[in-house]
Amino acid sequence: MRQRTFSIIKPDAVRNGATGAILAEIDKAAFRIVAIRKQTISKPQAEGFYAVHQGKPFFDGLCDFMSSGPLVLMVLEKENAIADLRKLMGATNPANAEEGTIRKRFAASIQENAIHGSDGEDTAAFEIGYWFAGYELI
Ligand code: GDP
Repeated sequence: MRQRTFSIIKPDAVRNGATGAILAEIDKAAFRIVAIRKQTISKPQAEGFYAVHQGKPFFDGLCDFMSSGPLVLMVLEKENAIADLRKLMGATNPANAEEGTIRKRFAASIQENAIHGSDGEDTAAFEIGYWFAGYELI
């Protein structure tokens, strides 16, 4: 069954000029880009997106980082999209990421780790709806 997931090319990767290379990896892995938008988000927008992490020690720094410069918001679609994107991303901490993953290639730290991908169906639905309107997802 085709499935949709939500992804962000994070500000570190955009700043480092890795946007094109990451999009090429996503394309090579046969995801359809349903919607895509480059944008700079505000800190309150980042706090709402990461509300599930509120109270964790890295929450404030994470929201500062996510609002520190342009990022790329995307809705991606393929069979098994959620798990396949997580695999392509690699572990949260790039030090633990497998060879060939996006985080292994492009991430510098556990916080500045190049890419976001939804971790389940419920989160994908929340995250897609947080950033995109229905008419943008046809
Ligand atoms: P993900 O699903 O692999 O992105 O990881 P999580 O949902 O656990 O965390 C969300 C984001 O918070 C990560 O992608 C990192 O940018 C950041 N993060 C997670 N854990 C840590 C941590 O221990 N320290 C710091 N500084 N940032 C973290």
